[in-house]
Amino acid sequence: AKTVVVKVGTSTITHHNGTINLLVVEKLVRALSDLKNENKNVVLVTSGAIGVGCSRMGLKKKPESLPEKQALAAIGQVNLMHVYSRLFSEYGQIASQILLTKDVIEDEERKLNAINTFNTLFRYGSIPIVNENDTVATEEIEFGDNDTLSAVVAVLVKADLLILLSDIDGLYDKNPKHHPDAKLIPVVYGITRQIEQNCQNTDNSFGTGGMITKLAAARICNSHGIPMVIANGDNPYNICRIINGEPVGTIFVPN
Ligand code: ADP
Repeated sequence: AKTVVVKVGTSTITHHNGTINLLVVEKLVRALSDLKNENKNVVLVTSGAIGVGCSRMGLKKKPESLPEKQALAAIGQVNLMHVYSRLFSEYGQIASQILLTKDVIEDEERKLNAINTFNTLFRYGSIPIVNENDTVATEEIEFGDNDTLSAVVAVLVKADLLILLSDIDGLYDKNPKHHPDAKLIPVVYGITRQIEQNCQNTDNSFGTGGMITKLAAARICNSHGIPMVIANGDNPYNICRIINGEPVGTIFVPN
């Protein structure tokens, strides 16, 4: 793979109270810096801004109102970027920030602009860190979840691989949080109705998405010929194992 997009979920990079899981973020940054040093183009799509904002403001759970969520995203985003930027610099990398809304795919000119910006950042050797522009996004222009956003980014940068790091080892035949006998599905060649039914949504306090949005992401990627892997983010070295072709988590193979 020459260009790799990695997405981390809220549950991976934050503790339950919303504070940043520094150990995981540190390992994640090291793994991505290693990839970069192997001359790959690397994009990181990161969730967690609202959760981090909540913890900064001492809130126990995500508020319901839009202005509050958007304000907390604004507070959390700087904090998150500060941590990423500092760690990436320690490993000699130049982090950059790209905040997107859906108009990036709906408006041809903006789409082209975004593509050119990504490519220029690659040329500069920078690692773009992407999130939804939560402070301006309203329903009409929002992706709504970073799984879909990361798939769209993978298409924009013509990625060779999208890796979604989550709090779970991969796709199971039923939700393992509720069914201890659930079995991991290592390879998916096409998303069947059965697979969709296996993915009831979650209700974690700060994250959005669940498995349904990961399936949507796989569909977008696969339809553009891009494979997608879901793996556990508690060990970011999984990224290196995936790149080395080891069977980790679940891979969705384009046909
Ligand atoms: P993230 O914050 O990493 O995007 P989510 O909490 O949104 O993670 O999604 C992962 C969760 O999806 C798992 O922790 C699990 O509870 C839930 N889930 C539902 N159905 C399945 C399934 N069939 N296989 C794996 N996980 C599932």
